[in-house]
Amino acid sequence: MDQINMMNEPVLDNFWMPFTANRQFKAAPRLLASAEGMYYTDVDGNRVLDGTAGLWCCNAGHGRRKISEAVERQLSTLDFAPTFQMGHPVAFDFAAKLAEIAPGGPDNRLDRVFFTGSGSESVDTALKIAIAYQRAIGQGTRTRIIGREKGYHGVGFGGISVGGLVNNRRMFPQILADHMRHTLDVERNAYSKGLPAHGVELADDLERLVQLHGAETIAAVIVEPMSGSAGVILPPKGYLEKLRATADKHGILLIFDEVITGFGRLGTPFATDYFGVVPDLVTTAKGLTNGAIPMGAVFAGRKVYDGLMVGAENAIELFHGYTYSGHPVACAAGIATLGIYEDEGLLTRATELADHWQEALHSLKGSPHVVDIRNLGLVGAIELVPRDGAPGTRAYDVFVDCFKRGLLIRVTGDIIALSPPLIVEKSQIDDIVSTIGEALKRAA
Ligand code: PMP
Repeated sequence: MDQINMMNEPVLDNFWMPFTANRQFKAAPRLLASAEGMYYTDVDGNRVLDGTAGLWCCNAGHGRRKISEAVERQLSTLDFAPTFQMGHPVAFDFAAKLAEIAPGGPDNRLDRVFFTGSGSESVDTALKIAIAYQRAIGQGTRTRIIGREKGYHGVGFGGISVGGLVNNRRMFPQILADHMRHTLDVERNAYSKGLPAHGVELADDLERLVQLHGAETIAAVIVEPMSGSAGVILPPKGYLEKLRATADKHGILLIFDEVITGFGRLGTPFATDYFGVVPDLVTTAKGLTNGAIPMGAVFAGRKVYDGLMVGAENAIELFHGYTYSGHPVACAAGIATLGIYEDEGLLTRATELADHWQEALHSLKGSPHVVDIRNLGLVGAIELVPRDGAPGTRAYDVFVDCFKRGLLIRVTGDIIALSPPLIVEKSQIDDIVSTIGEALKRAA
């Protein structure tokens, strides 16, 4: 018989933790028990200020009753229904509501919505839509997708294939992809506020790859308009415009991965709106349901959607979908989430806070170990100089120190990444920055 757990302490052996040094974690676990507003509470009852919106997803903060009530109502009304050759009103209703705020303007809004279960599924879906679209319009030789060095597009085979973070790729075979160079020019752009002034020429790499492979082999190019997981790398001024122009010139679709930037992170509903560059497909997840129920969505424009909807009236236009595509409970959570975003003006709130956020973060210039600070909307990065021979350890120590002192941050390599819920108050921004400042002083 399994050992009975008398102490009511969680058994840590069986959960194989994602993206985690499992043994190190289990030796000194950090366990969150509840959450409300801007704060988590850990299992020992300590309050932890959420500097990362969970994992870039709880944009409206935690414990939102509107969402939990909608979920409970939906679960007891219609817990599940297929969406293959069937449907239910909640999915159509959510898609219609999303269409109202979808990326793009009145003439080119991406108002056709394909539901998935996560960001990784959204990415794989978008890549498949791009290839299927090219084939449908008679461009079947276009099967290659161009990604970018340092790009993060989830962990499906499609996503790691176009992604450019070496650790995520090196153990697995890849297909589909080639990568644009994306060298982060920290020195030239150090402490730039907002978008970097230098580096627009990096977009020329797309043209180089077109010349190398031939436009007739390339279906699409996928980028995060602002890369999050690689450590908040901001696009140089004019960079995304240049990608759009090059893609158009060669019949290549442009995909923005907005899993992080979607739903208000930059002070506009989508980064697409912030930059004024409209791609052909947009992938989302996370903020779609405030992180409460797993869900993703891909937004497509009429060109792509109509291009695929060819053939006989009764034909299945795209052989793709998930059991949980348009899951009624996730859709109910999403509708409630959109309601909160609208009622509280959260999709534009980052604009109101951006100046305070920028000045607060940049006040850490001159703190020990700091070599760069970057910010946009309500996203920030503090880059540290790595310890000799032990990259990543300094930022990790800062992360552990901050957690002990009641602040959740995120680190990737020696970069601290910040993305508080969009309900954050100025005083909480100041708390985040001062806790990090103190931790930096202690990080020898
Ligand atoms: N794309 C981007 C840009 C992301 O940041 C992430 C997750 N951080 C993903 C895709 C993958 O999303 P998920 O973890 O929900 O599969």
